Amino acid sequence: MKKIKAFEEVHKIYDQCKKCDLHLLPYKKVISNNNINGKIMLIGEAPGQTEQNVGIPFVGKSGELLRFTLTNNGFKANDLLITNTVACWTGIGNPKPLDKQIEKCFDRVLMLTMIIEPKVIIAVGKIAYETILKYFDNDLDYITFQNMEGDIIKIKLYKIFHPSYILRDNSKKNDWIEKIKKIYREIYQLF
Ligand code: SF4
Repeated sequence: MKKIKAFEEVHKIYDQCKKCDLHLLPYKKVISNNNINGKIMLIGEAPGQTEQNVGIPFVGKSGELLRFTLTNNGFKANDLLITNTVACWTGIGNPKPLDKQIEKCFDRVLMLTMIIEPKVIIAVGKIAYETILKYFDNDLDYITFQNMEGDIIKIKLYKIFHPSYILRDNSKKNDWIEKIKKIYREIYQLF
């Protein structure tokens, strides 16, 4: 119940958010895939056009590749809480979100992490990984985090290529899949 209320609070803050200039674009906010029971948090870069149409992250072409590869290699869809460093589409051509935009939006990810208390975070792409290292206390392999009760928890951190990179350079696909399989083997021992 506490979790649901806290999650609704995140939506209340960010559904109408005007904290950065991305709010000037007339697009829907993409907060997360709403899976408050997710044990594995995936953090990508920014929603794309398809995502902002439906308000759910990673549902476009690259998102489909990522979701298919994860579930095809053992991950359960119900275990995944998916979000991005920013909640607004950055516009035509998907320019990278600016540091000042991420800075305004990443509190949302910190709040989600506090609510969900995932056992694992997977950074999807370089921007997400660098952002995580910047905003979370970490030792590269683990994030240290304070939950809603004030307890310090440790979250295992992984990084993988962004699926849009795999779509552009298919030669990396096998390595990418092997990495996802390796993560699966390691993390499902934690549950
Ligand atoms: S990107 Fe985040 S901070 Fe910026 S307007 Fe959208 S919801 Fe608000």
